[in-house]
Amino acid sequence: MPNKEDKICIIGGGPAGLSAAMYLEKKGYSDYVIYEKLNKVGGKCWSPRIKVKHNGVEEERSFETGAIMGAITYHAVSEMEEFGGYYHKGPDFKPGEPNMRREFRKLNGEVDHPFEPKVNFSFKKLLGLVKLKKQMKKLNHLMQTKYVGYDCYGHIGVAKGEYYGISKGVAGYCGAVPENSFPNYVKGVNPNLKDLALPFSEFCRINGVEEVQRIWIAPFTSFGYGFFDEIPAALVMKYLDVTTALEFVNMKLWTWQDGTQQIYEHVNKKLKHPAILETEVVKIERPEGKVKVTVKGKDGKEKTEVFDKLIVTTPLDRFIDYADATEEEKELFSKIIHERYCDYIATFEEGKSPVISGYMVENMVPERLGHAMVYYNRWQHLGADCPATVYALANHTGSPDVDYDVVMKTMDEDMKKVGFPIKEKLYAQEVYYCPHVSAKDYADGWYDRLEALQGNKNTFYAGEIISFGDMEDTCAASKDIVGRFF
Ligand SMILES: Cc1cc2nc3c(=O)[nH]c(=O)nc-3n(C[C@H](O)[C@H](O)[C@H](O)COP(=O)(O)OP(=O)(O)OC[C@H]3O[C@@H](n4cnc5c(N)ncnc54)[C@H](O)[C@@H]3O)c2cc1C
Repeated sequence: MPNKEDKICIIGGGPAGLSAAMYLEKKGYSDYVIYEKLNKVGGKCWSPRIKVKHNGVEEERSFETGAIMGAITYHAVSEMEEFGGYYHKGPDFKPGEPNMRREFRKLNGEVDHPFEPKVNFSFKKLLGLVKLKKQMKKLNHLMQTKYVGYDCYGHIGVAKGEYYGISKGVAGYCGAVPENSFPNYVKGVNPNLKDLALPFSEFCRINGVEEVQRIWIAPFTSFGYGFFDEIPAALVMKYLDVTTALEFVNMKLWTWQDGTQQIYEHVNKKLKHPAILETEVVKIERPEGKVKVTVKGKDGKEKTEVFDKLIVTTPLDRFIDYADATEEEKELFSKIIHERYCDYIATFEEGKSPVISGYMVENMVPERLGHAMVYYNRWQHLGADCPATVYALANHTGSPDVDYDVVMKTMDEDMKKVGFPIKEKLYAQEVYYCPHVSAKDYADGWYDRLEALQGNKNTFYAGEIISFGDMEDTCAASKDIVGRFF
């Protein structure tokens, strides 16, 4: 039974952990602790400030190593903005604001215009675009009819042909009405939803909409979320639901002037109990009715504290290494796959930075694993002197992983080939990214088994695995878990 006096431990001070704390407070809970192992909050939203030179003047600007953008469907993130008092820019960007314009670039360095019929006109291109437009329309229609219920957060019931969760709908968009819009729970039966367990390429094939992958690939694969021959369609369509995908196409996106990390810094400052930094959870024991949490602080000393409940927002496949995991937890969590997403912020040879962000679509296929897929130029008013972030994926089911050093070198070579030779890397990383399960495990009901475990041993699972690896889905998962179980 929920008890507002409960003492709650939250592992992780990323978007999921901080939003869990915010929603707990909104519900009247005040006895909670957030442990964060790093010396900052925000997790994979990390926005270092870097000195840049422009017209002889040196200034500091925020750059992104992790999350960059949001859209109109970022409802839970909006609640975080409201709570912290720090808001996004866009979708219409003013001069001096970071913006989300982008181009497409071929590997020979030429700028490509795959979606503009009049540029490099040919009948083949025109017919291809007509076909694409028809299939986009068809998919939109299918998602609102055949796949009713697809766009709530999370995966409860999908493998059984049911849906249950907070609706992601935006009233007035793509057929959503106030009754089925955020923040309402929606529930129903729809056997067609089982198709969402299929890899996205197969899902498109059975629905005769293969062409739409050309639209979905850039904000999915190049953003590190995996390849369409391996990723269950549910992950693609729940993140890039039709409304969000259209906002991407029309470049109606949000970004944050001082970086996404500031969303979470601001929330953290407003919480009754800000995250305890540089404190790693190293052991969990769950005797009857209680949770014993052992942490290692920055002085290297361990201490153990007793809680009533535990919210885990950190990778569950790693949780089993330091917790007294049950056989079921071990079996389930060891099936989790994660992407190895690599990126770096770099400066370029003088006057040779990209002046706009760009997609390299030819590299978004498994055969080009480890190659640069996208570069992000955040401050376009800085022209060709601006550092940019470059991104690549290092793994794909069925292909050998690419070594981190090889990925870094390959990205350098790619950037040079397209005309942007790297001068210096200011920051580079490989990230544990987008945890999920295989299409087979999805179809076998993995997410329903996880749901059945919620609350066992006073433990609740939140974070990226619940719905999807983006800021919105992680914050919404916290809203859902706090809403239903606390
Ligand atoms: C390159 C990149 C680009 C991205 N772009 C976008 C984007 O444009 N839009 C978007 O919405 N999302 C984007 N994302 C995804 C988004 O950043 C993540 O989905 C989100 O940060 C997940 O939040 P989380 O709290 O679940 O996990 P995390 O952000 O990973 O936070 C988990 C936290 O737990 C801490 N932790 C781990 N283990 C322990 C332990 N044992 N004890 C204590 N603390 C621990 C970690 O240090 C971390 O701070 C991007 C991510 C990356 C890397």
